Amino acid sequence: MFVSEVNPQGGHTRILGVIGHPVSHSVSPQMHNAAFREQKMNCFYAAFAVHPADLGQAIAGMRALGIAGLNVTIPHKEAVMDHLDEVAPSARQVGAVNTIVNRKGKLIGYNTDGWGFISSLEEQGVRLVGRRAVILGAGGAARAIAVHLALAGVAGITITNRTPERAEELAALVRETVPEVAVEACGAGTIQERQALLGAGLVVNCTPLGMHPEVHGTPLSDLALLPGDCVIYDTIYTPAETRLMAMAQQRGLQVIGGLGMLVHQGACAWEYWFGRRGPIDIMHQAATDALEGRE
Ligand code: NAP
Repeated sequence: MFVSEVNPQGGHTRILGVIGHPVSHSVSPQMHNAAFREQKMNCFYAAFAVHPADLGQAIAGMRALGIAGLNVTIPHKEAVMDHLDEVAPSARQVGAVNTIVNRKGKLIGYNTDGWGFISSLEEQGVRLVGRRAVILGAGGAARAIAVHLALAGVAGITITNRTPERAEELAALVRETVPEVAVEACGAGTIQERQALLGAGLVVNCTPLGMHPEVHGTPLSDLALLPGDCVIYDTIYTPAETRLMAMAQQRGLQVIGGLGMLVHQGACAWEYWFGRRGPIDIMHQAATDALEGRE
């Protein structure tokens, strides 16, 4: 797609984009550009593949070129914080930035992943207060989700991870941020994980297990022990239905995929870039079309 196709006005086009490595799989360009077209905004959103060694130069380039805003994805969400002028409390709290705003040359980092996750749960009518959550994984997505679940008033959180030390580190961060919520940590596949699953009201997969192209992967192989009112949330959105989601569906559990989180975190980034929420329906449709076109 060329800028002129999106922006017949030329001239004062505001450029936005996403930096990641790899980034070619991202559907954020289709999602944001569809919204710009619908809202007749003179903006264009591009995907920039940035090698980790070039991150500092890429951010300097954002400043020099006057790029209005960026999203940040794997693997730069933590490292990018060192290159910004300011990091907002929402991003400091989770230790990761996924949205940068260029305010007259001053680069400010925010995080909208947790917001996107909670909004997508609300959209599906899931009440969080009183539920016990089990988070599978302790990386960037898990950090944002764990902190926001604690802030949203869940009854307790268990974080399980392949590397148990990282689960413990994240548990400590959540306890520090929201001391009134009970947070435990354990290794993936342990007895403690089984015990947590027995009482779970929400299970969130924050690992890439099951993601395209390794679609046969799953972070849990047996869902029999989950309570019947447990909600299974997979943050993966390629494929639209992961093996974990298919197993949960068979078991009769409520199932939510990661597309809603993607759309809501993008719509929330608009708040920081433009002072208003992005159009959810248009963005959801554009992301769905882009993903279907790929399958
Ligand atoms: P990350 O920071 O690299 O963390 C990956 C996590 O998965 C770590 O806890 C890691 O465990 C674990 N893991 C990786 N490979 C594993 C394996 N083979 N077996 C067991 N555990 C494994 O990645 P992230 O940014 O958090 O992303 C994680 C997932 O969230 C991805 O699937 C991504 O697509 C999804 N996500 C979705 C959205 C959305 O908008 N829907 C947004 C962000 C992320 P160790 O600590 O042991 O390495």
